[in-house]
Amino acid sequence: MRRYEDSYKQKGLRRQLVDSIRQKGITDENVLTAINNIPRHYFLDTAFEGIAYEDRAFPIGEGQTISQPYTVAYQSQLLEVKPFEKVLEIGTGSCYQACVLAELKANVFTIERQKRLFDLVKQFPFKSRYPTIRFFYGDGYEGLPTYAPFDKILVTAAAPQIPEKLLQQLKVGGKMVIPVGGQEVQRMLRITKISDTEFDQEMFDNFSFVPMLAGKKS
Ligand code: SAH
Repeated sequence: MRRYEDSYKQKGLRRQLVDSIRQKGITDENVLTAINNIPRHYFLDTAFEGIAYEDRAFPIGEGQTISQPYTVAYQSQLLEVKPFEKVLEIGTGSCYQACVLAELKANVFTIERQKRLFDLVKQFPFKSRYPTIRFFYGDGYEGLPTYAPFDKILVTAAAPQIPEKLLQQLKVGGKMVIPVGGQEVQRMLRITKISDTEFDQEMFDNFSFVPMLAGKKS
């Protein structure tokens, strides 16, 4: 069994990471505190422990990645999470982003399409610190109609276009943050649902995510 320890050295590296993210333009102190509170090295293979606090993405298996901390902070800041909001996340991956949302006191519903990653997260002991996260194995393009509507939706994979069903599952007044574009580069969008049929769209910076793929993978 792996032993999870958060040493002074790792805490110090994490504070430096938070400072560097702040310097890159993240201003939401709640988001920065959340990142400071979560031992990111727990989410990575022990081989990456020494470099877990570099501001970069890392492989988590099955061709997927844990997002760069700056990207996690950027998306979390745009989402403007308030305590007790219902937040749907597409792309559980390592579950790091879901834990950041839980640190922001959201009630998190997170979907992963790859069975192996979903099973790995189920065995991850650290997640028991966040009983407000619920895990689902499924296709994020479908959302979670049973639990809709959501205050916020966060997509952590690159979508070729805005998924219609996710727009439907957003509350009026709710927001969705989603990277939309091609394989190489996507534009971060924030969609606000004005009424059942009207949406406002804001455009932010370019990012590069792994693709949002249709259907489940067993
Ligand atoms: N939020 C994750 C980032 C993972 S990368 C983290 O913090 O680690 C994106 C993830 O989205 C991958 O695990 C990928 O398998 C998943 N994914 C891609 N398309 C999906 C879909 N249609 N539904 C659910 N998950 C999807």
